[in-house]
Amino acid sequence: MKGVSTVATDANSIGSLREMSVLMVPGIGPERALRLERLGIRSVRDLLLYFPYRYDSLSQSDDLSALHGSAVTVVGVVRGPVSVRYRSGRSVLTVTVVLEGEREQSLQAVFFNQPYLRHQLQDGKILQLTGKYDAHRSSLTVSSYSLKVERTASEQPVYRVNSQISVHTLRTYIGKAIELFGHRLEDELPLVLRERFRLVSYANAILSIHFPKDAQALRQARRRLVFEEFLRFQLAVQGFRHIRAKEVRPRLDLGALAGGVAAFTARLPFTLTGAQAQAIEEISSDVCDVHPMHRLLQGDVGSGKTAVAFALAAGLAGLGWQTALMAPTGILALQHRQDAARWLTPHGVRVADLTSRMPAKTRRETIDAIAHGDVDVVIGTHALVSEQVTFQRLRLVITDEQHRFGVGVRRLLREKGRDVDVLQLSATPIPRTLALTLYGDVAITSMRERPAGRQPIETLWVRPKAQEQAFRLLRRELTKGHQVFVVAARIDPSDDGPGFSAVELYDLCQDELANWQVGILHGQMPEAERERVMDAFVRGEVQVLVATTIVEVGVSVANATAIVIFEADRFGVATLHQLRGRVGRSEFPSYCVLVSDLPTIAAKSRIHALRESQDGFSLAEQDLILRGPGEAFGDRQSGLPVFAIGDVIADRRVMEVARDVARELLQGVDFWILPSFSSLRQIAIEQVDEHADS
Ligand code: ADP
Ligand code: MG
Repeated sequence: MKGVSTVATDANSIGSLREMSVLMVPGIGPERALRLERLGIRSVRDLLLYFPYRYDSLSQSDDLSALHGSAVTVVGVVRGPVSVRYRSGRSVLTVTVVLEGEREQSLQAVFFNQPYLRHQLQDGKILQLTGKYDAHRSSLTVSSYSLKVERTASEQPVYRVNSQISVHTLRTYIGKAIELFGHRLEDELPLVLRERFRLVSYANAILSIHFPKDAQALRQARRRLVFEEFLRFQLAVQGFRHIRAKEVRPRLDLGALAGGVAAFTARLPFTLTGAQAQAIEEISSDVCDVHPMHRLLQGDVGSGKTAVAFALAAGLAGLGWQTALMAPTGILALQHRQDAARWLTPHGVRVADLTSRMPAKTRRETIDAIAHGDVDVVIGTHALVSEQVTFQRLRLVITDEQHRFGVGVRRLLREKGRDVDVLQLSATPIPRTLALTLYGDVAITSMRERPAGRQPIETLWVRPKAQEQAFRLLRRELTKGHQVFVVAARIDPSDDGPGFSAVELYDLCQDELANWQVGILHGQMPEAERERVMDAFVRGEVQVLVATTIVEVGVSVANATAIVIFEADRFGVATLHQLRGRVGRSEFPSYCVLVSDLPTIAAKSRIHALRESQDGFSLAEQDLILRGPGEAFGDRQSGLPVFAIGDVIADRRVMEVARDVARELLQGVDFWILPSFSSLRQIAIEQVDEHADS
């Protein structure tokens, strides 16, 4: 077998575990391997690095009624028979569980889609359950369970799993993988750093993160892993800039650029806001400089970042330079292309699209045109990064949303020229102090002003019981000829938990809003299908768009005036604010309805904050404050990088240390020559970055 020989030659590095399939772990067959793959676990390394997202301590003396709406872990005994019902295609299994502990408490454990459990949950069976507790119904919606209770351990790891793999099974596999391959985990942190910061070894940390002996072992394991993860991130970010800062390129004529920009903005159908004008000025002078620019343009949803980006692209086109605009999704790229067709093309700027789904012939022709300089502005998705794409005179790379300091940009620059400017657009502002912690001395332009004439979005909150109110509002807006969004927190009805999935909401909306065309949009649909639906919505053929948070970034439909967000408590403030920004893009009054039971105080404060403020900058700050520990949900949208184990907010101090250590290393000599730094050095040079933003 090929896999085995690779392992034999490279036995002592984590790299080999990366190549090794989970099939090498006893007990995992092809079918189990497929199930693991759905969790993103393919190699033994993936398995070892599949960290728990939370630890629950078993505390049976707590009064459960105080924990309404939160996730709890309990140990108890099954009492009486199991009941299984079927409801709209899914099974609901309920059983009474009497809890262990001084208080005589019992609850109804509810399992979705696991009818086979009825045979295992016999009267008297001891089990451990984790899930969301509802005090009114005395019920626990089980998200994970274990039938082999280890009552000695105090910190119970909880993993993100799905209905096909239980936490217990996953732990067994991880245990076996550690036993067999744990010794091959090589420490990539040099001893001098480990000693200086008193960090436990890598192998040790991996063991303790999955099977903590006690709370202290867990703390040490985490500290070690977080430090390494942050240091890698810092080396990638700072190393990138360290190397780029040495590049020198020809200066451009600022006056000439400004002239071209002004000619473009004069023909826009609106006057620039003060913030837009100032941003253009700031960026223009960077673009003309001999050192490459790396700048973040932050502006609330609807603040008009596209106009700023296009103005620069138009100015550069006038001087014979090319611009690449990269969007995270096909839908966003499409919108930019539509804007470009309205604004840039009439101005004489030659615009081309580049996506991975184009017919091969068109694609080849486009790539040719870019290489020959027959195109001024290229708009596309990740396809831009493809190595076949070469530019004749690329000067500016603009990335919209999500791509912040992402891998795509780095690779693009490495291949197309390091002396190119990078402008990253973001609608999810990060407070300045945090930005400095994360990215060091990054250049930031903030636009805190919105175009005139926009009305504040009225934000309402209703309980799920009163969801009819939300539908009334939707019908009212639709009757006026407007369009609406309906957002679900998850896609598939078989995913965990109560509340509506996108698929269920789609059905519901077809009933409730039967007079209108309803479309559905989520990440598991093929991209072509998503674009078709989005396009139909943009053109007004679909009036109701049911979607997951995929509609969040950047999508702009001026006629949309209402958005209803179900299970709003599952999102952070920044995400909710982003979603709300999908409406209120015209002079019509707009509405945002948050449907939530407000189970926790944190959720309550978040919804309150949103109702009080429309300012993304201040909400971003509040988001950091209001976010409870371990509340990672929705982070992808918060504009902050997502880490496997570290938490940008909770582990802020570690990030500061990592930032300073990275700076020190990059400026020193040892880092560049000693063999013990070779793998970290690789990160700084190659920008190998595991925090792919997309
Ligand atoms: P975002 O910053 O969220 O990307 P967009 O660039 O999509 O915002 O702009 C939102 C909308 O506002 C667009 O329809 C755009 O045409 C319009 N717009 C941009 N700048 C102005 C302005 N100065 N005055 C009026 N409307 C503007
Ligand atoms: Mg935008």
